[in-house]
Amino acid sequence: MKQAIFSISGILGVDRLFAYLNRNRPVVLVFHGVTAEKPGHFCNHEGMHLYRPIFERLMEFIANRYHPVSLSSIVDWLEGRAVLPSRAVAVTFDDGYRNVLTEAAPVLARLDIPATLFVATDFVFRREALWPDRITSALYLTKQKQLSLDTNGGAENVPLRDEGERIAAEHRLRSLLKNVPDDERRTMLEEIVASLGVDDVEATSAWPDHAPITPEELPRLFEHGVDVGSHTCTHAIVSRMREPQMEFELAESRRLIERATGRPCTLFSYPNGSPADFNARTRDAVIKAGYRGAVTTIKSEVAAMQDRFEIPRCTLTHNHITLSEFAAEVSGLPRFLRRAKARVTGGPALPRGGSWQLDGDWV
Ligand SMILES: [Zn+2]
Repeated sequence: MKQAIFSISGILGVDRLFAYLNRNRPVVLVFHGVTAEKPGHFCNHEGMHLYRPIFERLMEFIANRYHPVSLSSIVDWLEGRAVLPSRAVAVTFDDGYRNVLTEAAPVLARLDIPATLFVATDFVFRREALWPDRITSALYLTKQKQLSLDTNGGAENVPLRDEGERIAAEHRLRSLLKNVPDDERRTMLEEIVASLGVDDVEATSAWPDHAPITPEELPRLFEHGVDVGSHTCTHAIVSRMREPQMEFELAESRRLIERATGRPCTLFSYPNGSPADFNARTRDAVIKAGYRGAVTTIKSEVAAMQDRFEIPRCTLTHNHITLSEFAAEVSGLPRFLRRAKARVTGGPALPRGGSWQLDGDWV
């Protein structure tokens, strides 16, 4: 239904009208990875990693219809130190997957589109798999037909007999682990992986596109016009960190990136990035750590008065995306419709998660 609306809006030129109306409000896009592998692998069932030909089509659209700019030039604009072209769009990637260098960067360089890669430094520098990827890999590899979970609500048996049940189990485990404190999450994760009977070394290589970029490869990103920012060390949610951990992760991730690249690291991306994941306290810490700007996953265009430490970003990355859906998203049309609906129904214009984020709400 939504796709039909957007393809009709494309035919009628409504997205062009919205792109024009929003021409002075830049848009920041967030992606995670780009893969050479056709969609269909269990480990990429949500399409977090876009199939390269699809990514290439979306980027060609941006190069033809918009003005690609770097995220740091949007920060300069918010600081009042620079002007931006109309219809400015910035491209960003979260987490630090290696395929951003091997698959995305050549496309971006060919089209002259600058980008920023935000890396979680434990993932890149210590090769520690991101915890949602570990769950996915373990569910992909396990021979078990069910998983016994011990939760606060009591014992729970999660069936794992087919792909549908494994995907449901993945959602269940992610939401369970996302809502527990960091150290508890680590313990639970180890228990889950162990009870699924999966060898950890095997799990980290279950899907090659889950591999992180190496520290030695980070400087090569600059050759393709890709800047490097911080996404913390552990990918833990900053608003839930205590002061010492928060200060350490903001400073240490920055230090490691600067040492590896030889360039200043001035941009930060909040893990998860929804309204509950940052606040005045985290904003102060980000400033104190020396960053010049920070991005969230609040889905909106960037207004001239926007706080540069809470820059919104739009995400619509899955392998079923159509060009008309993407065109509508970048133009601001769906956000206008949501705001209009909220005015009529009295509901929130920006829901606190779910429909406006990626399918798996993991960013
Ligand atoms: Zn992330």
